[in-house]
Amino acid sequence: MAAATASAAALPASPAGDADNVRRSRILSSKLCFDVPLSKVPLVYSSSYNITFLGIEKLHPFDSSKWGRVCDFLIKAGVLDKMRIVEPLEASKDDLLVVHSESYLKELKSSLKVSIIVEVPPVALFPNWLVQQKVLYPFRKQVGGTILSSKLAMERGWAINVGGGFHHCSANEGGGFCVYADITLCIQFAFVRFNISRAMIIDLDAHQGNGHEKDFANDGRVYILDMYNAGIYPLDYEARRYIDQKVELVTGTKTEDYLAQLDKALEVAKTNFDPELIVYNAGTDILEGDPLGRLKISPEGVAMRDEKVFRFAKEINTPLLMLTSGGYMKSSARVISDSIINLAQKNLIDLSRCPSTS
Ligand SMILES: [Zn+2]
Repeated sequence: MAAATASAAALPASPAGDADNVRRSRILSSKLCFDVPLSKVPLVYSSSYNITFLGIEKLHPFDSSKWGRVCDFLIKAGVLDKMRIVEPLEASKDDLLVVHSESYLKELKSSLKVSIIVEVPPVALFPNWLVQQKVLYPFRKQVGGTILSSKLAMERGWAINVGGGFHHCSANEGGGFCVYADITLCIQFAFVRFNISRAMIIDLDAHQGNGHEKDFANDGRVYILDMYNAGIYPLDYEARRYIDQKVELVTGTKTEDYLAQLDKALEVAKTNFDPELIVYNAGTDILEGDPLGRLKISPEGVAMRDEKVFRFAKEINTPLLMLTSGGYMKSSARVISDSIINLAQKNLIDLSRCPSTS
């Protein structure tokens, strides 16, 4: 849990034990943070993010192709050139070992285990090589996207991974559709690769982000603001103790009330911590009608929420990386793309300018 003051900066770096050295060398030898030419915009996506698996993906109440649909909407609206999207690499086993244990990664060789984590029971019936290819590979691509986005955010001030945000997964345990801990991974990468020592997680998905909370439980370098419906999954009371700033919502919270609470929370965060990188988990399961989030936020409310967070980052002059996280109703993709268009219209991001230098 982060110290509730900016003095976290003064904390000594973690002891350089063997495990730390191994982690450092894994991070430094990773291929995920490659140089992206300026002809590309810091919007990261791959068509392999989308999960299509013999039709059984339809059994989960998720639009498992929402990531591709977000980009399609942006391209059709004329605000994004397909050629300027950044395609990430797949996170390798060595990359994943930066946070995950060998034993956890070994567990994923059981299709039954994966089926429990992604909450799609029929996945258990398929051979693991097929589950690896159809389910885990798309997730590993999204993890690669989150890590590359942190580099882009540091370089350009902002980045959006049109995917990722698997906030229920911690180093040793997956759950709630989250197999890999991409938020923990990208912050650990940022500490080493960009030599920063203070990161803020703003988690506005409807669910509590118990994965990163457990991973950074005793790490004063990370400040966590989590605003979630307190009456739904994961009800992780242990992890709640590790949230620096907790805003607990009740089922049925409406847009106006939600945005007022967010304003207040961002004000408090600003006085409590001075981050060098913000990871914004922008789940859209706060939308009215979402069967899992059970809040009542309008599509316009989601766009206003995202705008507030981007303005906050701009005000404190801190790089921001946005992840799309949960929210898999058919309407989610449109809401996300409309929000990104709004950010561009308000000049908080720029998807059009293309320097001719590369
Ligand atoms: Zn969620």
